[in-house]
Amino acid sequence: MENLLISACLVGYNVKYNGKNNYKSFIEELKKKYNLILICPESAGGLTIPRVPSEIKDGKVYSKTGLDVTSNFDLGAKKVLEKCIRFNCKKALLKESSPSCGVNKVYDGNFSDTKIPGIGVCAKLLKEHGVELYTENDIDKLL
Ligand code: SF4
Repeated sequence: MENLLISACLVGYNVKYNGKNNYKSFIEELKKKYNLILICPESAGGLTIPRVPSEIKDGKVYSKTGLDVTSNFDLGAKKVLEKCIRFNCKKALLKESSPSCGVNKVYDGNFSDTKIPGIGVCAKLLKEHGVELYTENDIDKLL
């Protein structure tokens, strides 16, 4: 079976900033077609679970308390790319709108619950290396 890189929160792991997950029932169908290779770039980059939420602003990433966490996001993205290469993943299913995993949208950087067109730090790095990106909103393309 093909290996599929996937945001661990979508599989049900409690790795979100608030210590919860984004489990989607379609995961059970995906498991029949792919070997799921779990990733969480924010925890891989040294951020805690739970943690203060972060957003992208002017090319950097800041926590809601104003801490510059760009280096954590960059490190996490790099570790995910290494895992992607090690497992020869050509595709990734990532959680939309996350500052790490968002593919088409991210929050606007003002913590105002507003989404804008954009891409997360890890998703961007994977895309630059030719990985096909999908989100929970276009799961039909993977099943
Ligand atoms: S960094 Fe990605 S995998 Fe980790 S909790 Fe956020 S959206 Fe999920």
